[in-house]
Amino acid sequence: MPQYQSFPVKLCYHVDDILKIKEISRPINLAIVPCGRCNLNCEFCVSKKMQRIDLPLNKILHFLDVTKPKSVDITGGEPTLYKDLIPLIKYMNDHHIDAGMITNGIALKPEMIKGLMWIRISVNSYIDKGYSDAHLIEIEKNLSTKITYGFNYVYNINYKGTNFNKIIDFIKRHKFDYFRISLDINHTDELNVDFEKDILSFKDDVRFIFRRKIEFGPRPDECFIGHLKPNMESDGIVYRCVLESEELMHSIPIGDIDHPEKILQYQGMNHACTRCHNYEQNKIIKELLENQEHKNFI
Ligand code: SF4
Repeated sequence: MPQYQSFPVKLCYHVDDILKIKEISRPINLAIVPCGRCNLNCEFCVSKKMQRIDLPLNKILHFLDVTKPKSVDITGGEPTLYKDLIPLIKYMNDHHIDAGMITNGIALKPEMIKGLMWIRISVNSYIDKGYSDAHLIEIEKNLSTKITYGFNYVYNINYKGTNFNKIIDFIKRHKFDYFRISLDINHTDELNVDFEKDILSFKDDVRFIFRRKIEFGPRPDECFIGHLKPNMESDGIVYRCVLESEELMHSIPIGDIDHPEKILQYQGMNHACTRCHNYEQNKIIKELLENQEHKNFI
């Protein structure tokens, strides 16, 4: 069966931190781009304008020490190019921070997987461009059952149905926990989601996840999600939101790698936002923080 984003429900596990957010806004799930470089050049990539530099490991570790996130997405750029990837994951393991990684898998080695709770491999280069996936098949032979190992295919403007058989071939060759299909966020209005029907009719024993078109709500009164789920880019700047345009995102950072304590101070609304893809979550949190009348009558 298809599965959908569970992020709003997961907020319920962190009510204690949410209730204190205006005193100390600890990030629950921090995304870090340790390395802005990439070994591919995908047309639909939203990270192309990232600074192509690496963050110093000691600064990342200090940042984690001060801000104490519960989990970290290691993302890119391409994180497998980061020379200190393995010590970074080890540090998170030693400090009880859950670690997950998003990679294109091209330079992935088995030792980079150790200590991750999940890994998601972007597979467009293998499916659209014919890159060899033989090394992934080798990795899959010795995968620990503790790790969730998934794939993501970006349904993009070049798809036009021609790659369907290649996706099926890929699925048949690999051992994985789920296959996610997301829409190229630059072209969501032009893409035909009939693709979903094709895929579901192919196999019902594969766990497919469909990441649909992002729905925006109006500008909220306050931006709590930006503190609970911030993003540190390869320039060391921490932003509230990865999905807004770069111009907008870059105008309102909430901190940087050299001043980790700053992100612990609640900073209210991101004034550059005119709409919000986390509107519902921001609204729920705002209502939770207000003193609800007769709160035991649920
Ligand atoms: S769109 Fe703006 S208000 Fe909404 S979560 Fe992102 S930064 Fe916050």
